[in-house]
Amino acid sequence: MSGTQLDRALDLITEIPDFPEPGVLFRDLSPLFGDATAFASVIEALGEAIGDGVDRLAAVEARGFVLAAALGYARRLGVALVRKPGKLPNVAGRVDYELEYGKASLELPMGSVNAGERVAIVDDVLATGGTVAATAELIRSAGAEVTGVAVVLELAELGGRSRLDGLPVHALRTV
Ligand code: AMP
Repeated sequence: MSGTQLDRALDLITEIPDFPEPGVLFRDLSPLFGDATAFASVIEALGEAIGDGVDRLAAVEARGFVLAAALGYARRLGVALVRKPGKLPNVAGRVDYELEYGKASLELPMGSVNAGERVAIVDDVLATGGTVAATAELIRSAGAEVTGVAVVLELAELGGRSRLDGLPVHALRTV
């Protein structure tokens, strides 16, 4: 894939000031998801980012699901759907953590990750890193290994990478 094509896709991400709270610059990937060529470029690039030797993907609702579903289909990998509380009938584990704007908890569905598997985490935006760190903790507590993290956009000034204890992070764009 040409860098230009990927750049064009990433240029579709828009910035919304003061959403969902004053002081937060929200990065909206909706225009990218809505453009078939741009979406395909991003999925292809995320596939290159996760590399080989991955048994499964893990993603957090909701935008992470869209990316991981397409990438899982393209790479023939199953997806562990990490969820916000109250959605799952059978929970393997729960982690509470801090967000850029508030607090959150995540839960791993029972049986969605097998011990010994190599799992790559996929998400739209890496901000403070709390979401990815919590997801990694859930995966590891199921006895699996986290191979790395692939995100579309990394917000460098929020320092997410430094919260991930050296986990390889591949961002299609860092701002
Ligand atoms: P964090 O846990 O702080 O790294 O936040 C990452 C999660 O929150 C991702 O799943 C994003 O969808 C969302 N998020 C956090 N900050 C932003 C932002 N500025 N713009 C868009 N999404 C964000």
